[in-house]
Amino acid sequence: MTAPRLEIDLDAIEHNTRILVDRLAPRGIRVTGVSKATLGSPGVAAAMLRGGAVGIGDSRVENLARLQDAGVATPLTLIRSPMLSQVEHVVRTAHRSLETETVVLEALSAAAARWHITHEVVLMVELGDLREGVDAADVVELARSASRLPGLELAGLGTNLACQSGVIPDQEKMDELSRLAERVESACGARLSIVSGGNSANLEWALSTPDVGRVDELRLGESILLGTEPLQRRPIDGLDTRAFTLVAEVIEAKVKPAQPWGGIAQAAFGEQDLRTGSGSIRQVILALGRQDVDPRGLTPPPGIGVLGMSSDHLVLDVGDHEVSVGDELRFELDYSALVRAATSPFVTAVERGGSEA
Ligand SMILES: *Cc1c(COP(=O)(O)O)cnc(C)c1O
Repeated sequence: MTAPRLEIDLDAIEHNTRILVDRLAPRGIRVTGVSKATLGSPGVAAAMLRGGAVGIGDSRVENLARLQDAGVATPLTLIRSPMLSQVEHVVRTAHRSLETETVVLEALSAAAARWHITHEVVLMVELGDLREGVDAADVVELARSASRLPGLELAGLGTNLACQSGVIPDQEKMDELSRLAERVESACGARLSIVSGGNSANLEWALSTPDVGRVDELRLGESILLGTEPLQRRPIDGLDTRAFTLVAEVIEAKVKPAQPWGGIAQAAFGEQDLRTGSGSIRQVILALGRQDVDPRGLTPPPGIGVLGMSSDHLVLDVGDHEVSVGDELRFELDYSALVRAATSPFVTAVERGGSEA
């Protein structure tokens, strides 16, 4: 089989979605599954929908188009502010988008009118993480202009924390979002159908708070895909953390000195490798590099250590393991390694389980 490859267990993704959907439902919170770390994989999106997600979100309109082309029948949300140069593509592909800029809303409105469609917008509020979002003091004004624009429907309000600065989505932040939602509703005279509280980092709050306020949706990627929460990167109870495995093939296996010899300067990527021992080791090279994956996010099998990685070579100390040329080794990935592997043209995604079985 082709290598390197990213093996994706769709049943694990469906399972993780279902568990989170079932835990959030009694609190009145729906789940939009976020597919961006898988390049908008239709198989992954379908698994999320089977698990109970009410829609799919992705940060790239190209990924949403991939879902649309594959016939994934669900509301598609663009979760990054559209580029002005892509508004046409956005209204024809996404049912809804997250917005912060008047000029973009106006361009979307014109594009929606040209195509005789209604595009839903969710206005994003800045609550301190300092990525996307309009200042809380300006949100009512932005909502007023959005609701006046033809072709647009003001669907709701949202926020995103913990992505840029690690700001924790706590009760105070979520209460503020709820208050703003109510203020927008009384200013615009219409009920918002979505109050989108955030991403996987919101789970701890959402599952423990006595009061979710007006928050009725979360946009979940990492927790569904990797079974971890992004604040401390701990596994979430009851979720499968092994939905993704990166498989790579051995191209050299030799006993070599544990330490390099000669005058030592910088290595290809500026870092010295991680050799500590003496004597000799079983050193193995895999056909896998920084063009395929983020080396810091790889977990090798037990007893095997990563010595270093360049663009095309991953060098391992395999300890006592018998490893030969042509063998395959399997790695777990963190979110950063997953994103890189899923977007590398050299890594083939192989989906198992689900309806694809
Ligand atoms: C990536 C992203 C998400 C999903 O985040 P996870 O931590 O993977 O759950 C949600 N909302 C926005 C705006 C995002 O960019």
